[in-house]
Amino acid sequence: MSGSEAETLFERIIGGEIPADVVYQDATTFAFRDIRAQARVHVLVVPRKRYRNVAELAAGDPQLLSDVIATARKVAELEGILESGYRVVFNTDGDAGQTVFHVHAHVLGGEPLGLFGA
Ligand code: ADP
Repeated sequence: MSGSEAETLFERIIGGEIPADVVYQDATTFAFRDIRAQARVHVLVVPRKRYRNVAELAAGDPQLLSDVIATARKVAELEGILESGYRVVFNTDGDAGQTVFHVHAHVLGGEPLGLFGA
């Protein structure tokens, strides 16, 4: 956790300061469409409480990580891709290209997805 640092972009989205296309929200998580979609369905799921990345979330609050995964499933259901399949990605720090340091799951699907790689 880095609660003393300046608000991240995603905290400002959760707070309603920055507009977003919200897909789902509940007491602990928040889901909205990625502004630069990489697939027909591309939704970001974030815990309301900020952790820097998924490693810190897993170590600090496993129940909240479970909530994020459950919300990813809910998003897939709402988007109609539960049966066709979807991918959940957590970019974690430098080599993975993480740019917003408030942990977020990318939920991708709605079409055949390419293989992983650089
Ligand atoms: P990367 O930027 O390399 O994809 P991240 O895993 O940190 O790394 O992802 C941040 C994601 O946030 C990006 O997919 C980006 O398109 C998305 N994003 C940035 N600004 C906004 C915004 N205002 N609303 C919705 N999504 C956003």
